[in-house]
Amino acid sequence: MNKKLSTVFAFGFSLITFLIIFLIFIIANAGIGRQYKNHLQLQQKETADTISIGISHQYNPKNNQWNQDYIHGYGMYALKEGYIIKVYDTKNKVIWDAQHHDMTLCHQIMGKISKQMKEKSYLNHGGFKKYRYSITSHGKIIGYSEIRYYTPYSMNEYDFQFLHSLNLCLIFLGIAAMIAAGIAGWFLSKFLASPIEKVIETTQKIADGTYEIRINSNVPTLELKHLTTSVNRMAQFLENQEALRKRLVTDMAHELRTPLTNVSSYLELMADGIWEVTPKRLNTCYQELLRICTIIKRLDQLQNIEKENLKLSPKLTDIKSMIEKTCQAFESQLFEKQISCSIRGSHSFLFVDSSFFSQVLSNLLSNAIKYTEPNGSILWVIEETASDVLIKISDNGIGISSKDLPYIFERFYRADQSRQRKSGGSGIGLTITKAIVQAHHGSIWAESTPGCMTTFTIKLKKP
Ligand code: ADP
Repeated sequence: MNKKLSTVFAFGFSLITFLIIFLIFIIANAGIGRQYKNHLQLQQKETADTISIGISHQYNPKNNQWNQDYIHGYGMYALKEGYIIKVYDTKNKVIWDAQHHDMTLCHQIMGKISKQMKEKSYLNHGGFKKYRYSITSHGKIIGYSEIRYYTPYSMNEYDFQFLHSLNLCLIFLGIAAMIAAGIAGWFLSKFLASPIEKVIETTQKIADGTYEIRINSNVPTLELKHLTTSVNRMAQFLENQEALRKRLVTDMAHELRTPLTNVSSYLELMADGIWEVTPKRLNTCYQELLRICTIIKRLDQLQNIEKENLKLSPKLTDIKSMIEKTCQAFESQLFEKQISCSIRGSHSFLFVDSSFFSQVLSNLLSNAIKYTEPNGSILWVIEETASDVLIKISDNGIGISSKDLPYIFERFYRADQSRQRKSGGSGIGLTITKAIVQAHHGSIWAESTPGCMTTFTIKLKKP
């Protein structure tokens, strides 16, 4: 089952924190515990040494006598601290023996220490061991002491309390950190999830057809900003496509409706005998049907060009000569409207399929003539950059409004102004032009100032 982001974050954060605290707990316990135990071991040894030295001071070398009272005091003090002492002289004669002095107390203390260590310190499987020290005075051995204590180390109430509070501290810290991490994870997930939820909500609306919706791209992270920008761009694209689709249907209907209405009304009038059938009227019907055939032929052509495996036969061609030939082909139309047409630029050579590329030049020149008033002018310019050749055609005709400019290469798209002028176009010419240029791995774009001028630029890679 898919989990919510907040659950994943809260759980993930808590788990990571738990693992970190657990590791710290183990490492701290092992590290501090070992250090502390080493310290206790050292301390025990030092205490045993001090006891031994203390006893040596109770010997009077002048009369070879031991101060029994002091030794007794030492012995009893050490016994209470867990050290069981036996002192004897060089002839093995016992001077003081804790067990001999108070056997019951010795057993009681030894039992208590062993029990406590077994119960509270699981890893310490120790026991009481006896250590023998020589007692010296002025560099001469005067006797021996046997000190028995719990090894490797023993701990008293305070030691246990210290380790216990350390563990408690770590456990408390761990729980507090886990709770804090859980809360932080939950807040972080809310912080990240709410823009994501907004994106989900918006994309669902887009999927349902509400293309005009946009997301506020004021989001906390860069990745989310990219995501919202992409979604907004996608929505904008779909909105444009939807508008184009609607317009395409209207435009197509319009392109087919006009000739078909004309033909059907002509034929109806002639069939009803209202109009006499004359060659002129039949020719009008034929011309209208021819127009529909032309549209369908151009659509077929477009489909062929747009096929990915369009076979071009590119040859190194002088573009300036090609433009000159195109202008010659349109001489009568240029003359009719008294439009001047000039070419500027050098003879640049490009790899193009001449049959397709001459169609590109013809379409652009035909449009320039169509949308330029009589006595206007058309200028071709060939420019070279380091890697490309730019072919430009400018006219000082009606121009294209900024509203129409982005769509003129779409199928059937015609600016309202050109539609009103009944220029006879069908809105497919530029779509074919662009498809041919792209098949040559080039690009084409238009710039225009309405009522003033229009420039189409083709960019192709140099051979
Ligand atoms: P059409 O057959 O209608 O000319 P095109 O695809 O060739 O179709 O052109 C699409 C539209 O682009 C035209 O209807 C016109 O509105 C606009 N257009 C193209 N060339 C020019 C130009 N030189 N000046 C002004 N408008 C132009």
